Amino acid sequence: MFGILGKSLSTGIVTTKYPAAPPKVSIRARGRPEIDWTQWKDARPAAAACPTGAISFQDAGGHRTARFDLAQCIFCGLCADADPAIRMTNRVECAARDRASLISAARYKLGDDGAHRQLVPGPAPVATEPARPPAPAVSSPLESIGRQIQQRSRLIFGRSLHIREVDAGSCNGCEIEIAGLNSPVYDIERFGIHFVASPRHADMLLVTGPVTRNMELALRKTYDATPEPRCVVAVGACGCGGGIFGVNYATRGPVDAVIPVDVYVPGCPPNPHALLHGILRAIHREQWGRI
Ligand code: SF4
Repeated sequence: MFGILGKSLSTGIVTTKYPAAPPKVSIRARGRPEIDWTQWKDARPAAAACPTGAISFQDAGGHRTARFDLAQCIFCGLCADADPAIRMTNRVECAARDRASLISAARYKLGDDGAHRQLVPGPAPVATEPARPPAPAVSSPLESIGRQIQQRSRLIFGRSLHIREVDAGSCNGCEIEIAGLNSPVYDIERFGIHFVASPRHADMLLVTGPVTRNMELALRKTYDATPEPRCVVAVGACGCGGGIFGVNYATRGPVDAVIPVDVYVPGCPPNPHALLHGILRAIHREQWGRI
């Protein structure tokens, strides 16, 4: 017993200072890829290598629009192997409230050999998402008033938050990272954030997986059972963009194809720092301790 006590005392505090300090991530950790848009000469090899369609392009009228969708990216690095203008980083703070903000694009003049010739200045038209049935509307007056009160009270008091995790068809990679949030290293309870067993006790749903058709009804029922105002965080490449599964006979694709989503946390899987960033962003506390 004295041995254990001595070890605990000599180990000291292991809890990350995040978000008061930047996340400590190994330089070998896989984070988001970055594209040097000005130096990118040909989107074809990277698009061919990309297993999820996160990198794509469209040619029309002597121009090419190249597009990168972070929500669909599984951080595999195949594009970086195929193209020197792309490099993998260890950046993990990628969560966004707006799905469209995860998409970046650029427009180039196209050469006869099919390579890019020159970056065309100005914003590139972002290709539209494939059509999918809209998620049910939830903007009832109660929902809208409740959201305003919730945001104000959270900004002022930083009150506690209860999360119900929903595995809607995940491989459990995201669940392993989510379990890390309760470890002494990430210790999500220091923010007054707790995981609960029932959606009836939850303020937030943390949803993983490309929603399988078997889980679609369960997800809708879980959403309906969560009291308003509620918040939904889609986790991982599958939850944000459908991942490598997309829409098929067994899956409905991203979470926002089934229920409305407030925050997207890309990654495959997103590590606990990335999850913390997304959860704190959902309650407007991502700058906690830094301001
Ligand atoms: S890192 Fe992302 S963009 Fe690059 S090949 Fe893999 S999934 Fe596609």
